[in-house]
Amino acid sequence: MIYFCALMKVYNFSAGPSILPKVVFEQAAQAIVDFKGKGLSILEISHRSEDFEGILQDARKRVKQLMQLGNEYEVLFLQGGATSQFMMAPYNLLPQSGTVGIVDTGTWSTKAIKEAALFGQVQVLASSEEQGYNHIPKKWEALEDLTYLHITSNNTIYGSQYHHIPEVSIPLVADMSSDIFSRPWDYSAYDLIYAGAQKNLGPAGATIVVVKKSLLGKTGRNIPTMLDYQKHIKKQSSLNTPPVFAVYVCWLTLQWIEEQGGLATLGKRNAAKATLLYDEIDRNACFKAHVELEDRSVMNATFTMLNSEKEQAFLELCAQHRINGIKGHRSVGGFRASMYNAMDLEGVEVLVEVMREFERMG
Ligand SMILES: *Cc1c(COP(=O)(O)O)cnc(C)c1O
Repeated sequence: MIYFCALMKVYNFSAGPSILPKVVFEQAAQAIVDFKGKGLSILEISHRSEDFEGILQDARKRVKQLMQLGNEYEVLFLQGGATSQFMMAPYNLLPQSGTVGIVDTGTWSTKAIKEAALFGQVQVLASSEEQGYNHIPKKWEALEDLTYLHITSNNTIYGSQYHHIPEVSIPLVADMSSDIFSRPWDYSAYDLIYAGAQKNLGPAGATIVVVKKSLLGKTGRNIPTMLDYQKHIKKQSSLNTPPVFAVYVCWLTLQWIEEQGGLATLGKRNAAKATLLYDEIDRNACFKAHVELEDRSVMNATFTMLNSEKEQAFLELCAQHRINGIKGHRSVGGFRASMYNAMDLEGVEVLVEVMREFERMG
């Protein structure tokens, strides 16, 4: 057994890598020292061992179950982060003569645009760039002759999120890195979903890809083995050594999600946290939300200070209260509070109390 000293609780609002359930950290730590009482560490067992293969296959199954998807979909645990998927998705889906429609909602969308342009045509259907990415564009150019549509479901940096699934008749691809499993959602409306694990699911090092098989093999292009979804599917996500430890921790988190009551419970919890924080941002005379009301992210709340000279003082007050990771991304400035699944209501209550104290200090 590993014993943890009762360190003072830190409230971690980091955007990613980010908070995970404490019990997952404890189970993961235990497995590093002794995996299942076998006298071996999870870090030294074979990825072809029965134990690990069981975990990998069960993790894939759990992802599919949480998403309520059928056998037309496959789940992969890959490496290279969501950033590699900006390239891998068009490599596998977009013929050279094809056009992908992308909605530009911030930094991660612009990266997806840049990479897709290496493989085919890109049509930027709408962009909120001119408004500092403070909303999700609702009016798009017509979706004519597009091979597929790509969206970023939650914009980790700017703090906006889709609260409705775009209704389209072409395949829908989404980067869900920062809101996967944050709410009950119709995942079957998508044809390809990808997410780096380190925002809401596990440590950096694993990337989840969920793909509808019928979409693949249509580009007429030769794809290098490691970038070919079909080859990964054929080898059940073990084409080469998978990121064993990262998959293991994701697997622990997937179980934790189920133990919490699944996506319904997490969705309610996340909504309550977000409501509490945004209500305070709107009420408090010192702060201002970056994103328009209807598009605010339940996962990453971005806000600035009316008097930016006081930003440092607020960060110091946060540090005194053991609030970590609240400094905003340089593209928005101000502050960002990431409230992923593992962040409990208490953490947000502490933050809100500190915001009130700051206002009283004047
Ligand atoms: C963090 C993030 C990425 C980049 O993920 P990596 O795993 O670092 O490549 C891409 N998209 C979104 C929405 C993100 O939040």
